[in-house]
Amino acid sequence: AKENGRNDFQYYTKEMNAQSHEMLNLEEELRRAVKAGEFVLHYQPQVDLQTGALSRLEALIRWQHPERGMLAPGTFIPVLEETGLIEPVGEWVVREAVRQCAVWKEMELPPVTVAVNLSVRQFANLNIAEAIERIVTEAGIPPACLELEITESVLMADAFDGAEALRALSQRGLRVAVDDFGTGYCALHYLRRLPVNTLKVDHSFVSDLEGDPTTAAIVSAIITLGHDLGCKVVAEGVETLAQCNHLHRLGCDLAQGYLYYRPCPPEEIEPLLQGGNHG
Ligand code: C2E
Ligand code: CA
Ligand code: CA
Ligand code: CA
Repeated sequence: AKENGRNDFQYYTKEMNAQSHEMLNLEEELRRAVKAGEFVLHYQPQVDLQTGALSRLEALIRWQHPERGMLAPGTFIPVLEETGLIEPVGEWVVREAVRQCAVWKEMELPPVTVAVNLSVRQFANLNIAEAIERIVTEAGIPPACLELEITESVLMADAFDGAEALRALSQRGLRVAVDDFGTGYCALHYLRRLPVNTLKVDHSFVSDLEGDPTTAAIVSAIITLGHDLGCKVVAEGVETLAQCNHLHRLGCDLAQGYLYYRPCPPEEIEPLLQGGNHG
């Protein structure tokens, strides 16, 4: 048994070494990617369930890897967060989204609100609201064109004063969305005192909406709560017509998901914005 235990241990450390080796490689590669500017933003439209209008987009980061092609953020965002690289990359995301907004404005496309995801690490910079305001002002676009998506769990984190951070953004005319709503430690009592413009119903609720009456009741409650707080409610991960119809019946304002559009590069967004309505 003793012998076995030792073998297990050896196996385990070997496995761990392989894993941390992989992490190190990824970290090195990401440092190189930051310098080489290999990130791009794709944009996913949010469709107004009442009118079909398309006036809001979420910016989602992609890594255009020279050998492995376009990589989704699930693989590299955690490493960016662990290494602190999320700070420069997160700032780049804001700059790039704002630059794109200014280009679309220059093209005289109908005005659009772009939502950008922020990580908790980015709040280590106490002046993040000021920094974002400066970026927006320099680009000559109204601050309300930018919405900052913050997950419910980030809002509740001990690491920073979530309320203070949101107020700082809101005071500068920037919009705030609570992302993945309903999945974190309950922020309900807290939410009442916060300047939030948008609640995003987490994908997991949307996928269970049809099969599970309890989920449907929760989604209905989130929508009512959102409206009572003066928020727009966006459902994420909408994949079927049944989900879309159900959300519409519940009074949900906007829907985002593969049923409508996948995240796509800016040049594919332009004709959609030009088109205006998508009922
Ligand atoms: P999220 O903010 O919850 O973004 C929504 C994710 O759902 C996106 O995945 C989107 O492509 C995906 N999605 C959209 N519609 C559907 C659908 O109908 N079905 C399904 N199954 N999925 C759908 P993506 O682009 O892979 O991003 C994953 C996560 O990575 C995001 O989740 C967000 O937490 C993070 N992320 C993305 N971009 C950034 C960024 O610029 N900064 C930071 N800090 N995080 C980012
Ligand atoms: Ca998001
Ligand atoms: Ca989300
Ligand atoms: Ca999510």
